[in-house]
Amino acid sequence: MAPSYPTQRPTDATHLPADEFDLPTALLNLPWIDSHTHAQTLSWADRERYSLAGCRAMVMVASGYHWTPYKPVTAADVRFLWDDAINRRRAIERDHFFEAGLALGAHTGVRIENPADLVGSMADYCGLDEVVAVGETGVTPTQHVESWELDAQFELVRAQMELADEHDLPVILHTPNARDTGPDYRPGVGLPGFELNTELAQEPVLTGENPALEAVEIDFDAAREAGLAEEQVVASHADPNNVDYLLGETDCYASFTVGYEWLTGVTAADVAEAIEEYGPDRVLVETDCANVLDTDVFSVKRTILELYRLGIDVDHIRQVVFENPRNVYGLAD
Ligand SMILES: [Zn+2]
Repeated sequence: MAPSYPTQRPTDATHLPADEFDLPTALLNLPWIDSHTHAQTLSWADRERYSLAGCRAMVMVASGYHWTPYKPVTAADVRFLWDDAINRRRAIERDHFFEAGLALGAHTGVRIENPADLVGSMADYCGLDEVVAVGETGVTPTQHVESWELDAQFELVRAQMELADEHDLPVILHTPNARDTGPDYRPGVGLPGFELNTELAQEPVLTGENPALEAVEIDFDAAREAGLAEEQVVASHADPNNVDYLLGETDCYASFTVGYEWLTGVTAADVAEAIEEYGPDRVLVETDCANVLDTDVFSVKRTILELYRLGIDVDHIRQVVFENPRNVYGLAD
């Protein structure tokens, strides 16, 4: 029954009575975990935004080829990324009140000169309490500055998976995005939103019809060889190109990067579709925020609200943004 208002003529209040829509107020304070972020590379103000938006915990990923000054990269360059994250993690937690677990790994987006040295030292890092995952890593079809043959990439990915299995840690898999990136820009401006010299991208080492998916399938070959259970794999950057393989053909988790739709095309709608198709048990969400990219700290929080609009139950939203990552990474217990 619409309430009567003393307005001169009917207004929207008459047509949209309050009792027609229950406000999902629980979502406003829902704790969430960013399953994949490079928040240590952001500004203090960005990390404060995480707190303001109700982030309860995050997996701070110390792995990447964007932040190493020299190319090709040496083992020491990658270890610096790990050491920098270890150095700053506790101070970040103390300043911003969210919990920060670390993922340490070696990316294959650029050739590493002495990968065996890196794997040798990684075992000692895997035993640290603050290390909650290995990664991000995974075979990549295309490198930056210098290409890297597939066999060597495979060996590094497999070796990290073996270490993860030995230490009972999950692996964050970097799965390549399949989307063609937007319009043709003026020569010389690069890719707006990506502070990287994209002209230095090399010829791909994977050249099949769907190299992005092929790379993921090779990663699961590596997991099998390493004896790592599929449930110990969190496939990051899940997208419409790989979600059916990940959730339909393996037992891994699929984590959707919602922090830069402009680059990947991935939005909350893809997350909702995955939940509807496969259920919420193996779905996660992440920002993948990083200094070199135009990324959005608020994107997981926005996704929480958007998933509700798209018809996902509050319990399932909570499971995807909080309970699943809490269980996988042992954070926010
Ligand atoms: Zn990342």
